[in-house]
Amino acid sequence: MRASHFYIPTLKETPADAEIVSHRLMLRSGMIRKVAAGIYSWLPLGWRTLSKVENIVREEMNRVGSLEILMPGVQPAELWRESGRWREYGIELLRFKDRHERDFCLGPTHEEVITAMIRHEIKSYRQLPVSMYQMQWKFRDEVRPRFGVMRSREFLMKDAYSFHASQSSLEETYGQMYAAYERVFKRCGLAFSAVAADSGTIGGSTSHEFHVLADSGEDAIAVCEKYNYAVNVELAKTLPCTEPRPAPNADLEEVDTPGRHTIEGVSRFLGVDPSQTIKTLVVKGTDGPIALVLRGDHDLNGLKAEGLTEVAEPLEFLDESEFKRVIGCDPGSVGPVGLDIPVFVDYSAAQLSDFVCGANKDGKHLTGVNWERDFFEPRTADLRQVVEGDPCPREEAASDPEGRLVVKRGIEVGHVFQLGTKYSESMNATCLDENGKPVMMPMGCYGIGVTRVVAAAIEQGHDENGIIWPDAIAPFEVVIVPIGYHQSEQVAECADNLYQRLMYAGFDVLLYDREERPGVLFAEVDLIGVPHRIVIGQRGIKKGTVEYKQRAEQDEQELPAENLVDKLTAVISRS
Ligand code: ATP
Ligand code: MG
Repeated sequence: MRASHFYIPTLKETPADAEIVSHRLMLRSGMIRKVAAGIYSWLPLGWRTLSKVENIVREEMNRVGSLEILMPGVQPAELWRESGRWREYGIELLRFKDRHERDFCLGPTHEEVITAMIRHEIKSYRQLPVSMYQMQWKFRDEVRPRFGVMRSREFLMKDAYSFHASQSSLEETYGQMYAAYERVFKRCGLAFSAVAADSGTIGGSTSHEFHVLADSGEDAIAVCEKYNYAVNVELAKTLPCTEPRPAPNADLEEVDTPGRHTIEGVSRFLGVDPSQTIKTLVVKGTDGPIALVLRGDHDLNGLKAEGLTEVAEPLEFLDESEFKRVIGCDPGSVGPVGLDIPVFVDYSAAQLSDFVCGANKDGKHLTGVNWERDFFEPRTADLRQVVEGDPCPREEAASDPEGRLVVKRGIEVGHVFQLGTKYSESMNATCLDENGKPVMMPMGCYGIGVTRVVAAAIEQGHDENGIIWPDAIAPFEVVIVPIGYHQSEQVAECADNLYQRLMYAGFDVLLYDREERPGVLFAEVDLIGVPHRIVIGQRGIKKGTVEYKQRAEQDEQELPAENLVDKLTAVISRS
């Protein structure tokens, strides 16, 4: 491709509303343009990268025997009523009526459509397992569309669905999909982590998310590399302490803490570290209020709290007036001593001695508090969010001081679920088993945010000058920058010649023949991030050499023009 025939509308200024680097660079390099909030057009340069990601995904899906199909973007409400999600899905589902006043939605995902199709098509276990996928634009009316195509309202997803005659068959396909996802992200040149995840509202049990590791990621992942542990922080466990609790040292005392309602305020006022205080949260239980007690510097993990049978689901805190009526003081002064409701204490809080807590009287706290001595031995549970430095919960890591968690940021680019029979049951998708009896088909679903992968790759690959693409998804693999293309016939001839040679050798090559100063040309090719750059100038032509530089490296090399095809074949990774 000649740059003079291509359209690369680069911008010099940083777009004001772009908060993260990938969004800024996608706008500046002319990959995308905003049409409305969370809705973008893909320009030629962006489209090339998007297509390359799409092709890698397609190849890996085909490789595991998933069959490509295409389902409609507009979906009838009846199917969503059958599954129950017309009501459950909430405001992200964009609903509308056609001119016959019939309800429709723009598909945010396709479980309903595929389940309705399969229940008509598949009659016998002999036709199973079956796995199908599509590349389809989804619409989700995201509450906060942001970060460009990272969290947009319209986005390209590869979604695959599998149907089975048994759970073991589902598990086998799940394993193959998991491996296919690993290959996809590896081939895209991304550093990623497969993370055990909460399967959220879609239901089912086993699920993994694939995260590209980047500081701008919206998700937090607890990782212990030594023991190969990676889970969404929401799901990371903490363990009961194995050491004995320190013996009480201080006497129990009631102290005035006027106007101090927060852990921060109370600890500063009393001159103690927040980790020596505890906070008591009162939530609704299945049989009246329940107190959940945590160390002052820790945060409650709502999912874990909901996991207690005594706690009502969804988790709900007592409102202020109810709190006052049941507990008798402000929420800022509550504590477990003398509290007349069931109390659950987080493992770490249960390990404290001589701590500070609310006195159940407005403006008063207790110091020198000790479990058992001032209270009974607490009922303990894992209630808190993990923090950096917590022990790795894997059994093998027990008592290894190096088995510690670090918390990393991740961008979720893919998700695999074992859905089980959630949709098969609600939508009555059965097939006949060996004995001619109808059975529910267990189902799996597997998504990749194709447009998000493009943004995630930029979050991982960039510097102050622009994008640094991995070879496999770069819009062009090689860029030729001639110095003086429009002034020197010799340069033009040499550049055209090399351009032809590289094209015939099968490279995706861009000849940067725009009529601009060299400084401008270099700045532009750095911005668009082509991974391999060849500069052709008068001086080199005389010697029969060109200058070669990789986008990610500082130094350039002088190479004989003759050997360039061999050199590029050797360095460009094609998986
Ligand atoms: P998130 O937690 O980021 O909202 P999700 O759990 O809603 O994601 P899924 O329903 O599992 O996502 O969709 C499959 C994939 O589609 C996700 O892994 C993600 O890569 C991508 N995706 C989801 N929502 C968006 C969005 N608003 N913009 C771009 N990609 C998205
Ligand atoms: Mg979502």
